[in-house]
Amino acid sequence: MHEVSISHAIADVVLKESEKQEAKKVLLVELEIGELSLLNPEQIEFWLKLAFEKTPASEAELKIETVKPEVHCSACGYEGTLETKDDPLCHFLIPVFQCPKCGSGEITVKRGKECRVKKIEILT
Ligand SMILES: [Zn+2]
Repeated sequence: MHEVSISHAIADVVLKESEKQEAKKVLLVELEIGELSLLNPEQIEFWLKLAFEKTPASEAELKIETVKPEVHCSACGYEGTLETKDDPLCHFLIPVFQCPKCGSGEITVKRGKECRVKKIEILT
């Protein structure tokens, strides 16, 4: 599963940073997850909490922000968000990689694919 390896990568970043700063405790971890990353924030939270067990981050508050997609269409110059449709059958957000204005597939995703640690609060 995708979420497991991503969560471990995030945990790595957080724990390395807390080690570097000789943290007693990690208080807060803020994440940004783009809608186009197709990651499930609830699963990220679940796996991250597991990864943080028995570490200084075990009681850290997790905040996960989802980021709306932003695209640029090279066919018509459209700049803006991208449709994601909620598929009730798979409980998934399926991004439509098509310009909402002209229907072209020549779009560049500027935002929405990221998954990154935005902020870490540490008690030293
Ligand atoms: Zn377009």
